[in-house]
Amino acid sequence: MTSAVVVGAGVIGATVAWSLVQAGYDVDVIDARSPGEGATRASAGVLAPYIEGAPASPLRTLGHEGLELYDTFVQQLTRDSGQPVVYARGGTLEVALTVPEAERLGTESGLLWQAGIEGRWVPAALLDEVEPAINREATGALLVPMHGFVGVGSLTRAALGAAMARGTRVHTHTGAVQIASGPQGSAEVRTASRTWTADVVVMAAGSWSSQVTVEGADPVPVTPIRGQLLQLQASPGLLHRVIWGTAGYLVPWPDGTVLAGATVEDVGFDESLTEDGCAGLRQMAAALIPALAHSPVIEARTGLRPKSPDDLPLIGRSAVVPAVIYATGHYRNGVLLAPYTAHLVQRLARDPQAAVPAGMRPDRFGARL
Ligand SMILES: Cc1cc2nc3c(=O)[nH]c(=O)nc-3n(C[C@H](O)[C@H](O)[C@H](O)COP(=O)(O)OP(=O)(O)OC[C@H]3O[C@@H](n4cnc5c(N)ncnc54)[C@H](O)[C@@H]3O)c2cc1C
Repeated sequence: MTSAVVVGAGVIGATVAWSLVQAGYDVDVIDARSPGEGATRASAGVLAPYIEGAPASPLRTLGHEGLELYDTFVQQLTRDSGQPVVYARGGTLEVALTVPEAERLGTESGLLWQAGIEGRWVPAALLDEVEPAINREATGALLVPMHGFVGVGSLTRAALGAAMARGTRVHTHTGAVQIASGPQGSAEVRTASRTWTADVVVMAAGSWSSQVTVEGADPVPVTPIRGQLLQLQASPGLLHRVIWGTAGYLVPWPDGTVLAGATVEDVGFDESLTEDGCAGLRQMAAALIPALAHSPVIEARTGLRPKSPDDLPLIGRSAVVPAVIYATGHYRNGVLLAPYTAHLVQRLARDPQAAVPAGMRPDRFGARL
């Protein structure tokens, strides 16, 4: 049986592990902490390529492909794991609070129409029918019905659960220090206490990927960008879909709470929550939905998004240690791109020559990887 070690048990490592075990691999997952405690723990799980990706950008194209896989992915995962996954495709409503913003969204609505994507401009007079809680000063909003969100904690737990049900072993508090070439084309993963040898090693350590040395290779060009997020108490039914504004977004959770995200801060590996960050999120929430102005905070979370120089992930075989497959640098869209990433890694594991979209190739920045 071919063996694989997945380094990192965030949403990427978990979905990759499930995908590899389905392809017949004997999988070990190692994580420096516990599963899902990196960026994954703070993630809002919004699936919105037509907001996150600029028109005609690679992110929009790749995000679209990622979103297309989601229904089937969640269906199979729920069946395979026996665990529920929070998932809704109720759309996004991108709200304009100023005239220039309304003009921008009006143009965007036209571009979506040209691309054959359903996107409906909702004028201010009709907003009450679509989302009655929206700020009455809104000048209109763009509704994109295909968007949605997924509960990232439930998704990650289910993926690891499904992988473990098929024999995957998860080793917590076991950080990889170095990956090197092993015998007969394999790779060795060294931790403080043990060395694993595997036919395939997947580097999925998110923001920390640059701290794991791949012998002979440059550090992975991925840096941490902090995000803070609040979970607010709200009345059930207050919102019907994800609400997006220029300063952040709101995700209505099935239990009636609302996620308010997220800050974008370049502060190195500092995972603290800050008063300013939380205050800004409260302000953003109240500006979009005045009824949230005094909602109690149930929980505040923080995580480090793994950012590459062009914000797209690095997915592909290492040219230096070919048994290594990189699956990192997903920045703001790791959840959206997780099923697609898992699919690509499975293909690369089976066939080292398998094609990966050019925009994701690890060597595109000129680093020796
Ligand atoms: C506030 C916030 C909101 C977000 N919202 C969205 C959203 O709405 N939609 C979306 O698609 N994305 C969103 N993201 C981005 C998304 O969460 C990330 O892209 C995704 O979680 C990255 O997953 P990952 O598994 O690569 O990294 P991580 O979740 O960070 O996992 C990496 C794992 O590697 C482990 N690790 C670190 N070092 C080592 C080592 N040496 N050895 C072994 N293991 C190691 C860590 O402990 C961690 O568990 C958001 C992120 C944040 C912070």
